[in-house]
Amino acid sequence: MREILLSEKEKMIRDLDYSNHEKYKYKICAEPLQRNIYEDCYREQLVSFFQMAPLMNKTLPIEEADYILYANPFARVQDFTDSVLEEIEEIDKRRKDGSEIIICGKATNIKDIIKDKYSNITYVPSHFTEYIGKRFEIDMKEEYVVYDDRNGALNIWPVDGCLNKCGFCRRTYMDIPFESQSIEFLKEKLDWYKENHPEQMKFVSLRAENLNQYGLDLDGKRTLNKVIDLLDSYDEIEYISLAIGYCIGENNKAIRESLANCNKIVDVMLYFETGTNRLLKLIGKKHTCEMAKAFVKFMRAYHPDMKISVAVMIGLPTEELADIISLGDLLMECDIDFVHCNYYGYVDKHPLAAYPQLSEQVKKMHLKYLINYIKKNYDNDYILTLYHESFYDSSKRSVVRKLENIKKEQKYTKGRIWYDSTYEYFMGDDIVVKSHDENISDEELEKEVERIVKQRKLTK
Ligand code: SF4
Repeated sequence: MREILLSEKEKMIRDLDYSNHEKYKYKICAEPLQRNIYEDCYREQLVSFFQMAPLMNKTLPIEEADYILYANPFARVQDFTDSVLEEIEEIDKRRKDGSEIIICGKATNIKDIIKDKYSNITYVPSHFTEYIGKRFEIDMKEEYVVYDDRNGALNIWPVDGCLNKCGFCRRTYMDIPFESQSIEFLKEKLDWYKENHPEQMKFVSLRAENLNQYGLDLDGKRTLNKVIDLLDSYDEIEYISLAIGYCIGENNKAIRESLANCNKIVDVMLYFETGTNRLLKLIGKKHTCEMAKAFVKFMRAYHPDMKISVAVMIGLPTEELADIISLGDLLMECDIDFVHCNYYGYVDKHPLAAYPQLSEQVKKMHLKYLINYIKKNYDNDYILTLYHESFYDSSKRSVVRKLENIKKEQKYTKGRIWYDSTYEYFMGDDIVVKSHDENISDEELEKEVERIVKQRKLTK
């Protein structure tokens, strides 16, 4: 039987076939799950939701269904609790007596909030694709090794969840079950690809919320080295990207040795987050600036041509211009290739919400000075590219355009758009700060930057 490619599965989910349900013995309304698939993260789409394609082509109005499937990312940078509450309320009003709402994945975090308000709700926090497959007699389950034919990469999620609670992270108010996939399981999957699609193994993208916590539940210690050694053992794998989830503060000797010995590693994304130990401590990260520098130096020593990207935040509570200058110094000293920069996304459930927040103007000012400072002080042919996430204009974001289309196409539920963030690429010159809280001119700010830099040189 021909393998169904991921892009085909995605299309099957996009194009609901409303006429198909009559041939199906279970009466299901899948729309509330389908429309939220496009708002969930890449991992949830590839591991769980796109695997549901065979099921999603059978849907009935909520009022006629015996089973209503529901999903929601629950929180990304923002908190979606209110949207989940509204949507469950709407479904409950419209469903017939005795029908069951099956809540999948992260949306199950709503359980502690709604408690016993509604009857006949089933919560399936993890392995929900497999659960639904078994209940409705469809051969489907989560896949943790997935070839994405849209990007030409074999994606591997060796571990799900993260046991930390950094002060700016959704982890502080939502739970995702922690689970590592065993080495035997990963090997079995890779052997399948080797046998059936060796050409799809050329580029491997290793992904997780926290790669370095791999193995804590299996081996009682961090054993990401086992995953790297396993990947390295396949000749078919030529390039390995540590694409998401490498945590500098959770390294150990065995992991470092595997990284040093594996010549296939081509890039890594690191989460510097901010540029001073004071702020790193405030937000609860496990690394220091010195650890970040040492790790970059170590990686470059073994893999001189690798691309190093970092994620940083601007606008953390208590952040000052001096922190921004330190961040600029850190990025320049580490010779970073790409910076993914977000403003800190305030959520009132974060521990960081207890601090006074910076105004939008001050955040913009800090961003502007980070860019200007790097441009002025870095004389390599280095270009700082910032990937900026803001929360006021949804029109540019592709996921929102997709959702607009889904809303038009859905027959039985009112699709709603509540994910209102947008991403913009920009260079420093594009940012114009017209005013800021301190009401001082650009020239005065420039002088302040110079003063801080001079002071630091004297202190050193
Ligand atoms: S390590 Fe990453 S995923 Fe884990 S709590 Fe911190 S920011 Fe969140």
